[in-house]
Amino acid sequence: MSLREYGGEGSDDSGKPKIFDEFDCPLCNANNPYGDGFKEKDEIRCYYCGQEYKVKIDDNGKLKLKEL
Ligand SMILES: [Zn+2]
Repeated sequence: MSLREYGGEGSDDSGKPKIFDEFDCPLCNANNPYGDGFKEKDEIRCYYCGQEYKVKIDDNGKLKLKEL
């Protein structure tokens, strides 16, 4: 779908990994700002409950967190 917009500046489909700067913990629902940013295959930790997640991005560019 967003491939139609390819070529514009700032496109997410240009091969660069998508960087997120926050996530909502699936376990405790806390919002975790991540100042350094994270991307697919990074491992992140919820600051509130301590659960660690492996970051995955689905085909729609949405964040998926897999519990470690
Ligand atoms: Zn949590």
